[in-house]
Amino acid sequence: MLDAKEWTRQVIKKDEIDKYLINGEDFINEKRIQLLLQSKRKTDKKQIRDILAKSLSIERLEPKETAMLLNVQDSDIWQEMYETGLKIKKKVYDNRIVFFAPLYCSNYCVNNCAYCGFRSENRNEKRRRLSMKEVKSETEVMVDEGHKRMMIVYGEHPLSDADYMCDTIRSVYEVRKPASRGKGFGQIRRVNVNAAPMSIKDLRKLWQVGIGTYQVFQETYHKATYAAVHPLNTIKGNYRWRLYALHRAMDAGIDDVATGALFGLYDWRFEVMGLLYHAIDLEHHFGIGPHTISFPRMTPASGSAMSRNSSYIVHDFDFKKLVTVLRLSVPYTGLIITAREAPGIKKEVIQVGCTQTDASTRIGIGGYTEALEELQKQKEYPGDQDQERQQFTLGETRRLDSVIRECAEMGMISSFCTAGYRCGRTGAKIMGLLKNCIEGKFCKLNAVLTFREYLDDYASPETKAVGEKLIKNELQEIRKDPFYQKGSLLSTFETLFKNIENGQRDVYI
Ligand code: SAM
Ligand code: SF4
Repeated sequence: MLDAKEWTRQVIKKDEIDKYLINGEDFINEKRIQLLLQSKRKTDKKQIRDILAKSLSIERLEPKETAMLLNVQDSDIWQEMYETGLKIKKKVYDNRIVFFAPLYCSNYCVNNCAYCGFRSENRNEKRRRLSMKEVKSETEVMVDEGHKRMMIVYGEHPLSDADYMCDTIRSVYEVRKPASRGKGFGQIRRVNVNAAPMSIKDLRKLWQVGIGTYQVFQETYHKATYAAVHPLNTIKGNYRWRLYALHRAMDAGIDDVATGALFGLYDWRFEVMGLLYHAIDLEHHFGIGPHTISFPRMTPASGSAMSRNSSYIVHDFDFKKLVTVLRLSVPYTGLIITAREAPGIKKEVIQVGCTQTDASTRIGIGGYTEALEELQKQKEYPGDQDQERQQFTLGETRRLDSVIRECAEMGMISSFCTAGYRCGRTGAKIMGLLKNCIEGKFCKLNAVLTFREYLDDYASPETKAVGEKLIKNELQEIRKDPFYQKGSLLSTFETLFKNIENGQRDVYI
């Protein structure tokens, strides 16, 4: 293995940045963004309603339209925007929320991001990299919670290079465990990856090992802020290497990519515009935008003063606005709200259009296995996660079962569906289906199938009671919906549903 300094020097491939530039320029034109945000300050109710109608017809907005939404001052119009956000979500994704959990494999990092507990200069951080045996133990705990979808996460370091990533992903897929309550078995069926930008060659390795989505957050689209929080002499200091990480992933064959910004580093309105331009540039180059967008808010991290003191901290009322504007701007893109958020705001923001969230989350290296002993003794997760082995602080520490019960009480069905990428409904294909509101119909069926599995195999009696009522309603809706009457869709679904009740697992449409 190369030493860390030498390894760092060979990561960035300049030609894998330059090939995406247009006339030597990247797609973030700050002057244009600032101008749009300043010039679209006047709110004309009629214009806003026209924009909302466009969003509702599941069309992506143009930057000038998004800028106009961002500048709305009138609280009644905001209310209309929140309501439209929810309508869009229902139209494209119905009443589903997809669950996943992250697995942090290594906190070694060559970078020095000012906001992150893993940064190289944080001497308080206890460094650790999971062995394959440990990856499997962690996965088993996650599987025992009922998880089927994992987001695997790494610091950037030669100890967690693409080959290590591939080994860990293979290890995750190898785990298969009898269910803790029912007659089924548990396994992770989709591993999504959140890792530093890589070369096309390394990304191909991830693709070959069978990852779902590849996720990279730009952190901030504002170049001066980016430079201030990511030292220039680090890999992450190269703004454009990161900006085109998802372009390279597409070129490597990974057609489900996900972006995000770390809210709290710069003006939230600017970051929303940056995310939109990112989606547009991906569409321009590859014909499809990101599969999901995330909007983590910065939370206090060990050894990071700036994570506590930024003047751009986003308050709850603005957070709800930014998620709403994203929902309206990219109506067919999944929106992920993470366990950084506390239950109250999470619940509120899910209502304006989020499609995915995590629960039972542990972000310390080895955190799931360590919680096991306590888990067996008490019902909830221990809230006091070790600051010195994790990247930031969590707002949501409840177990999957509790969060699923809360969602079911709100009329939302929890989904563990992984059918999309296994049936080839990814990339341009899934985007087309989402835009035409067809994918949501399949997802509803798969959500019910995977929820059935969850209720039988992992749910507590309390959650099962609420869940059964919900599933009954869902079945009634499905049986009434003319869409499902076409061809053999309904009868196929009914057969699969029965098979699950009889103990078969991992079936999907
Ligand atoms: N090291 C890789 C990278 O930077 O791309 C992997 C991702 S990092 C482990 C996951 C994400 O956590 C970062 O992209 C960043 O947005 C987020 N993050 C870092 N520090 C944070 C903090 N203090 N609060 C909330 N999120 C944070
Ligand atoms: Fe390393 Fe990622 Fe943390 Fe930056 S955000 S210090 S790259 S783990």
